[in-house]
Amino acid sequence: MKELLPPSADLRLSQGPTKITRAELARLDQAVIVLPAKPADADWRGVPGGAQLRAASRRAGAGTAVHSRLANPRGTGLSAQALPGGELDSFRLLQFAGKLVAEALATQPRSLAFILSRLDGESAERLAEALVLAAYAQNFALPTAQTKAKAKANLKSIKIFGVKQPLELPPIAIAARAQNLARWLTSLPPNRLNASGYRELAKQLAKEYGWQMQFLDEKKLAREKAGAFLAVSQGNAARDAGIIHLRYEPKKASKQKPLALVGKGIVFDTGGNNLKPHKSMLDMHEDMAGSAVALATLQALTELDYPRTVDCWLAVTENRISATAYLPRDVITASNGTTIEIIHTDAEGRLVLADTLAIAGRQEPELIIDYATLTGACVYSLTERYSGVFTNRDSFNEALVAAGRRSGERVWPFPMDRDFDEALKSKAADILQCSTDGSGDHILAARFLQRFVPKGSDWVHMDLSSASRKEGLGQVPGGATGFGVRLTLEFLQAHK
Ligand SMILES: [Zn+2]
Repeated sequence: MKELLPPSADLRLSQGPTKITRAELARLDQAVIVLPAKPADADWRGVPGGAQLRAASRRAGAGTAVHSRLANPRGTGLSAQALPGGELDSFRLLQFAGKLVAEALATQPRSLAFILSRLDGESAERLAEALVLAAYAQNFALPTAQTKAKAKANLKSIKIFGVKQPLELPPIAIAARAQNLARWLTSLPPNRLNASGYRELAKQLAKEYGWQMQFLDEKKLAREKAGAFLAVSQGNAARDAGIIHLRYEPKKASKQKPLALVGKGIVFDTGGNNLKPHKSMLDMHEDMAGSAVALATLQALTELDYPRTVDCWLAVTENRISATAYLPRDVITASNGTTIEIIHTDAEGRLVLADTLAIAGRQEPELIIDYATLTGACVYSLTERYSGVFTNRDSFNEALVAAGRRSGERVWPFPMDRDFDEALKSKAADILQCSTDGSGDHILAARFLQRFVPKGSDWVHMDLSSASRKEGLGQVPGGATGFGVRLTLEFLQAHK
């Protein structure tokens, strides 16, 4: 099962002096130089190869990266660009860094320098982080079975010059590698990351990180009366679905109640009897992105020696069409006793999450965060640039938006007023799974889920409309984005 996890080789990160010498530069394959917006002559003169770069920049026009080589034996490559004007929030900075680093990596360098000596202290510090994140994202090779795959991920080391403050590089690397883990898992083909494979890889990570692991298979879930989860998994050909429970306990655990991360792990979503058409079904191996984000966040928190106990719950199953698959108008009972009338078999995510939230909730976590590629309605509302957030504590919304701004993983809150429940009234059961017309489905899904969250727990639900984007997002190239990991780390840092 080793091949289900990404290669473990890490980049070597270091911070060099404020000024870079010719001798030092001659030992590096490639340098990325960033200048202030509208650079003055002194800025160009102050960087290696400045004269040629300035001439190239005059030809190319502002806002374009220019490239050159130094006349040393290695022929050290140079890529330079001025910062764009206007306010540079984290997202714009990451987007800028992603594009520039992608160009600098085109020649497959093994060693890379970032030269930021012409920037002011704060810009240099923020940009250094963005460039490191971009290098991790752009250098990362997603899983492929191509027999003649081109060597990617050649980069081995990064050295940063021109930042006066000492940079805290390890936490940046931890977050970037966790994000890549989420991207990797989300990209794996469905015949490799099936429910059994998922369980095996969780076991391997649990061993590596010292997590306790428990697997609630269908038999155990039947004993828990988890009828919502089992309604979805009953259509599978294999009986390998279940809830993976991982627990991280710090060496010196604080007395605070644990934190719980819950992820939707539909390893393939056909839509069930309400079958998806071709194009909507094509990428439904990515419907486990929420669970990948939860798992990757657990990895990052472990590596960061997070001071609190964290439970991670992954709801792993396929959603299949078969003779035994559940049907619209079925009435099922979830583990907390709530009866649910099924309306649409493609709204399976909220069902598996319902039982997973109820079971996770028995430990009365202080805070539960769940992640799910849950609704098309959220994508219609926000596109894939933002994800939606919902919470049972109004006061969290501001902190979530702020964490999104700081991390560059942008989120927007939606309402959670009780009267939305009127759209989920059922005659046959306590609640409808969803409404028949689909309007505001992301809000109704959140209202549905809150019934399974203990009243005493703070709860954040992330509808991951930005889990995957063909054109890329921020520093991340196209495909699975791993969106949510860095947002959560940022949120938890401020949340304490
Ligand atoms: Zn679905």
